[in-house]
Amino acid sequence: MSGANLKWSNWSGGVKATPDVIWRPRDEAELAGLIKAYRGPIRPAGSGHSFTRLCESPGAMVSLENMTGLISADPAQGEAELWAGTPVYAAGPLLHPHGLALANQGDIDRQTLGGAIGTGTHGTGLTLGSLSTMVAGVTLVTGTGDILNLDINNEPELAEAARLSFGSMGVITRFRLKLVPSFALTESSYVADAGTILNQLEDMAAKHRHFEFFWFPYADRVVVKTLDVAEGIRPERVLDIPAMKARGERVSRDEKLFAMICRSVRFLPWTSAWFHKLLTNQMAEGEARSGRVRWSWETFPSARTTRFNEMEYAVPRPQAGAAIRALVDRIRRDRIPTAFPIEFRYVKGDDLWLSPFYGRDSATLSVHQHASMNQWGLFRAAEEVCRGFDGRPHWGKQHTLTAKEFAAIYPKWESFQAARRRADPEGKFLSPYMRSLLET
Ligand SMILES: Cc1cc2nc3c(=O)[nH]c(=O)nc-3n(C[C@H](O)[C@H](O)[C@H](O)COP(=O)(O)OP(=O)(O)OC[C@H]3O[C@@H](n4cnc5c(N)ncnc54)[C@H](O)[C@@H]3O)c2cc1C
Repeated sequence: MSGANLKWSNWSGGVKATPDVIWRPRDEAELAGLIKAYRGPIRPAGSGHSFTRLCESPGAMVSLENMTGLISADPAQGEAELWAGTPVYAAGPLLHPHGLALANQGDIDRQTLGGAIGTGTHGTGLTLGSLSTMVAGVTLVTGTGDILNLDINNEPELAEAARLSFGSMGVITRFRLKLVPSFALTESSYVADAGTILNQLEDMAAKHRHFEFFWFPYADRVVVKTLDVAEGIRPERVLDIPAMKARGERVSRDEKLFAMICRSVRFLPWTSAWFHKLLTNQMAEGEARSGRVRWSWETFPSARTTRFNEMEYAVPRPQAGAAIRALVDRIRRDRIPTAFPIEFRYVKGDDLWLSPFYGRDSATLSVHQHASMNQWGLFRAAEEVCRGFDGRPHWGKQHTLTAKEFAAIYPKWESFQAARRRADPEGKFLSPYMRSLLET
């Protein structure tokens, strides 16, 4: 599709693009031909759930909405190949009949596999890496229009770099994923004293497969959420793809109330502290589903319908408690208004060259601001605190870092750049924003 009036926007509405053309290829050969003939910039887009300008292009944008679904499954090997345009909400229903599942997911399932894996999207769990760590192989259509099947045995350097490359090496069309046998989860959610939870962080994280908490920074209590494998239980309910799709868009009564509170905080910023106490209790009641057992892929995602912008930093696991304490203190000290809680999660360290979790077990601290409010008072404070703890930003969430800082943060920066330049020697996938991230 091309024309003067093409418009694209990300989920929060904070990033808008007017590309010359949006391609919706049906197969790799068509995509390769388009890339070969175009000068750039070209940007792949998933479902636009990144808060940064990663997908924006004044030239071509690529949607893989016609390249979705399961290609093959091998339960004996614990692997499956899926098209990169597949939405995360479809992965569960597609893999479940083969007895397979993703080992972990984030807290929504609206993303595509291409976007989620491309930015190191993660859930929570001391022993669990991001979605990018589940990749065993990819098919990449490069900036030269070549179609490459990459894995540890075939171009291992390109394969290594491509696993977390946010569309900087070309368009990934297929992922071969390492999976786990299907499993069900028991959910538990409750309110606890913030100081008590901070003193027990490591114990809580060791005790539960998934442990996270939400801290409305003006409250002294936090909302704790844990998920654990329900051994031997096979829930009867198995949602199909349309049901999973619809579920994530449903606007609940709680979401409506929360949207109203967000608007109040915008006009009456001093109400933040009052609402934080109310929301802590309300969130716990809303989430009081203790004991409920469902398949993992039905359990992980929640519906998030109130639009916001987000920043997230990964800090080293040993500093996690001190970092969130410092962040809460800073928000209180500067009286920064927000209706949102800070989300605290654990992610296992990995060896992906541009992963925020490279070489270290980490905790992630996420701050959010309603899409109608200026987020930078909160985000600059959060960034300063988290950088003070050697934090690394999520590629899909807002931050102010550029290539010079990334080169200092990531030990394998130059290896990544060499692989990227091999895959895209003319820099066709570099928009102005991508240049700011990747070119010093
Ligand atoms: C409400 C909400 C909740 C979220 N929750 C979490 C969470 O729990 N955990 C977490 O870690 N993150 C979370 N995120 C962030 C989100 O997971 C990432 O930003 C993710 O990249 C979005 O996926 P997408 O399909 O929308 O990708 P997009 O935002 O469209 O694209 C992301 C990047 O991937 C590239 N890309 C997309 N498809 C391809 C492809 N086929 N080949 C090559 N490159 C490609 C794009 O060029 C871009 O650089 C959340 C975001 C929102 C809005």
